[in-house]
Amino acid sequence: MAKDRERKRPNVLVTGTPGTGKTTTATALADATQLRHVGIGDLVKDKGLHDGWDDELECHVINEDLVCDELEDAMEQGGNIVDYHGCDFFPERWFDLVVVLQTENSILYDRLSKRGYTGSKLSNNVECEIFQVLLEEAKESYPQDIVLALKSDTVDDIDRNVASLTEWVRQWHPTS
Ligand code: ADP
Ligand code: MN
Repeated sequence: MAKDRERKRPNVLVTGTPGTGKTTTATALADATQLRHVGIGDLVKDKGLHDGWDDELECHVINEDLVCDELEDAMEQGGNIVDYHGCDFFPERWFDLVVVLQTENSILYDRLSKRGYTGSKLSNNVECEIFQVLLEEAKESYPQDIVLALKSDTVDDIDRNVASLTEWVRQWHPTS
């Protein structure tokens, strides 16, 4: 599909298993670049873009069509950092860069435990990371050359990732 060359600033998707640091990274990147941070989880909650609560998965059942409708205009304008633990339902044309954050399993386990995850919610998410589910999903959903996997084990990793992504945003050009 042809890329949308009309936006003046890029759209970046930050994805990865819960706990890999998407919100921390996206917030810092938004601060550094003045791009807008769009946390899909909060958007879904605030605007009610869901079909109720999933008791088993302990999360809202996101309505993907409503989310895409809600974001279409902003994405067409450009300048968004979208933050979500899924990536296969957004239009491919929306993004100029798809960042997949990855965290070593034991580190992720500790982070999610600290967040209060237990039982199958904890093990499902760690398995999701072990099997690189989000990286595969990103590679299947977007051109390989815009998918970038970044290690997010330490605070230094975050600093490095934000610095290099900030540089990428600064150098991005509509016709590049
Ligand atoms: P996500 O949005 O992917 O679920 P968060 O950004 O909310 O992840 O991070 C989850 C927790 O892990 C937070 O307490 C955050 O400070 C910590 N964290 C995330 N990434 C890192 C990292 N690379 N190094 C150290 N701590 C991290
Ligand atoms: Mn988050």
